Amino acid sequence: MKIAVTSGKGGTGKTTIATMLAYACDNPQYIDCDAEEPNGYLFLKPKIERVEPFNVLVPKINEDICTFCGKCADACVYKALVVMGEPLKKTMFFDELCHSCGACAYVCPVEGALVEVPDEIGKIKIGKAQYIDFVMGELNIGEASATQLIASLKKNYINESKTVILDSPPGTSCTVVETIEGVDYVLLVTEPTSFGLSDLKLSVELVRDMGLKFGIVVNKYEEDNTLIDDYAKEEGIEILFRLPFSKEFAESYSKSELPFEKFKDDFKDLLKKIEERV
Ligand code: SF4
Ligand code: SF4
Repeated sequence: MKIAVTSGKGGTGKTTIATMLAYACDNPQYIDCDAEEPNGYLFLKPKIERVEPFNVLVPKINEDICTFCGKCADACVYKALVVMGEPLKKTMFFDELCHSCGACAYVCPVEGALVEVPDEIGKIKIGKAQYIDFVMGELNIGEASATQLIASLKKNYINESKTVILDSPPGTSCTVVETIEGVDYVLLVTEPTSFGLSDLKLSVELVRDMGLKFGIVVNKYEEDNTLIDDYAKEEGIEILFRLPFSKEFAESYSKSELPFEKFKDDFKDLLKKIEERV
């Protein structure tokens, strides 16, 4: 079973919920897909056993044989290539714009003028946090293309025999779509504030559009604040778990030491509810 944990915005406790849920599973694999800002390792404190480079293919032009026809630049919808013909006879490549789509290599009519070469944009770290199989994608600083890294995490690193917890990036962008696509259940983590509610609505729209099963977890829940409960009731969405706000919890969080054991039974109940709904 694959469960994605996401939220409409950062700072709502998404990683708290994802790591505590992983801890409560009997046979868990935790995958941190928030490759631009992975922080699950801070709480799970895994022992990293292997680090693998993550490469994408980017074009490399040999100007000695290039005819400067400009076909590669025309084919690049991301404007990552510029070709200057006579008299300059020069090409320019902007790697930060490149999406490694391969279109430029496909259209180049001169054999060997444009070849695709590997470029390391991040790393994949694999290890163990007690009984939790731990995998984490990490983009190099300045790299913007997390989608391909997430796609690789899902294609090559998921262990289907485990209960897989995918810690998604926040928001509703293509990285989130890539993470939650094809999972069995999506947990939307929110907090009872007007900002939390407004971002939650966007996430709900996304998971509904994608036809995924989902439910809400309210972090920092306060009994006298019914903002999220009212919305969920109106929309017919189930709130599966409410993690109460407590000073003690906030202090543990600030020290990157979550009270895993204290809440283990609550998260086991949450997991059971998800299993029943999948
Ligand atoms: S398509 Fe090939 S030959 Fe034409 S400008 Fe690009 S690299 Fe050079
Ligand atoms: S691989 Fe795609 S995005 Fe990158 S330069 Fe070539 S056409 Fe542009």
